[in-house]
Amino acid sequence: MTGISSAAAPPPTPWRPDDGPGRILELITTGQARTRSGIARLTGLSRSTVGQRLDSLFEADLVREGDVTASSRGRPSRSIHLNGAAGAVIAVDIGESRTRVAVTDLHANVLADSVEPLAVGDGPRALLDRVTATVREVIEEAEAGDKPVAGIGFGLPAPVDYEAGRVLGWSVMSGWDNYDIRGHLHETWQVPILIDNDVNLLTLAEHRRFWSDRQNLLYIKAGTGVGSGMVIGGHVHRGAQGAAGDIGHAHINGFGDPQCRCGNQGCLEALVGGWALARDLRDVQEGDDARHVVDRVRRGDSHAIAALRRAGRVLGESVAHATSLLNPDVIVLGGMLSTTGDHLMAGVREVVYQRSLPLATRQLQIAPTGYKSHAGITGAALLVRDHVLSPAVLDVALAAGSQPFLRP
Ligand SMILES: [Zn+2]
Repeated sequence: MTGISSAAAPPPTPWRPDDGPGRILELITTGQARTRSGIARLTGLSRSTVGQRLDSLFEADLVREGDVTASSRGRPSRSIHLNGAAGAVIAVDIGESRTRVAVTDLHANVLADSVEPLAVGDGPRALLDRVTATVREVIEEAEAGDKPVAGIGFGLPAPVDYEAGRVLGWSVMSGWDNYDIRGHLHETWQVPILIDNDVNLLTLAEHRRFWSDRQNLLYIKAGTGVGSGMVIGGHVHRGAQGAAGDIGHAHINGFGDPQCRCGNQGCLEALVGGWALARDLRDVQEGDDARHVVDRVRRGDSHAIAALRRAGRVLGESVAHATSLLNPDVIVLGGMLSTTGDHLMAGVREVVYQRSLPLATRQLQIAPTGYKSHAGITGAALLVRDHVLSPAVLDVALAAGSQPFLRP
């Protein structure tokens, strides 16, 4: 089991006597209570009422009993835990040049996955049809064909209207603007489908796995594109229209106004994005994305290393503003450009500590991402898990039938 399952944020509202099995499961998955007597003590419910609520969770196979443990009053009690195998989660992480499709359990552990050369440039219809075919293959590979599917989590490299599940406004995803992604996938999968910006999913995965004890986290993704995500008060903050954190296309003064791929000039991304660094280095060698820049840095190319260090300082200007605004506990630096040791990080650190208010940096930690890979699909799986196991959604599903998840 990973550290994720027990690390969810504590429930935001106090216990109410009429709360159903969903709240009981929440106490278990957040580690607040792990035994019948612990649940009774925490909620004030009688043991028989606790037993009734647990019965519906057992009937749905959502929880299993574990080892006998001694309770604080000395009476032996069996621990109860979430059954991660109760449902499969389909996680899809669409990138600018490739797409990862995975099947996970309810703990967001990957059971099988596949990376395909599918990119947003293929357009929504063709790409979603091929994703659907790949999902079937991956389910087969995971030998999960007999499992009910809890839901689909879908990440896209663009601002997303989270409620509507649609791509918003300008993006590198021409043809996707306002396309009914959920409607398209629902033709095949009649399960909950959650669609979010890819950096929000990285932020969720990072926070839940490595920093769940912190309430405020700023995640910077520096890859071919540049974006950020934030956790405020323990929850991913998406903003009024889903555009929160889209720092890549905010103008930055003092570094010239190079043309950006969004049509504007002087965007942060046009200065420090992988494609912009590759553009600046093109006199030496070919390549147009972050991967090419990183390959050159790894080979010890001094031009590429200097460009990445400079990019760190420019990025630091934006991150310093965000730090003064948000006062995060921790800033996490992820994305392809952050994978080359300290080159990018050094510049970011230098400028953030120089430019931000002392009070905002007194206890600030700046750290590289803890993930080597699979962060995007882990975030997508956690998004689904959080939704389908949330008390409001789960109690309705359990009231409608004993099984909360559908077989595809
Ligand atoms: Zn731009």
